[in-house]
Amino acid sequence: MTESSIADEAERYLQILADPRHEPAPRECLACYVARMLAAHGCDTTLRWAQRFRDLSSPTATGLERRLGEVGGFCDCEIFLNGYRMARHLLVRNLATDELEAPDEPPVCAGVGRTSTRPCANWQRRTRHDDW
Ligand SMILES: [Zn+2]
Ligand SMILES: [Zn+2]
Repeated sequence: MTESSIADEAERYLQILADPRHEPAPRECLACYVARMLAAHGCDTTLRWAQRFRDLSSPTATGLERRLGEVGGFCDCEIFLNGYRMARHLLVRNLATDELEAPDEPPVCAGVGRTSTRPCANWQRRTRHDDW
């Protein structure tokens, strides 16, 4: 990466942070927030959105990175690849493949207590045998 593209990226990130739409909504959970930010901005191979959620909503949750690491979430997208998936009741059946998949429109967060860093009822832990 050239120096100027690093500067551009930093600039872009500051603009993102200055935009109130990029803050967690009241009672929005970590998983819904990170999923929302990933959909808009992608993963930069760090936990930047999870950490931003923590900084804004739950600054005392200093064990967050360790806890996410325990479920395989070493960057924002891995939280979903390895840690949590959308709860089954929210999935829609794809008529072409006959498989359940996440809806096009992300569901509204089911809400968590203020300062909680747990995912809301929209998410469930992936298990080793994900066979539904
Ligand atoms: Zn990632
Ligand atoms: Zn949620």
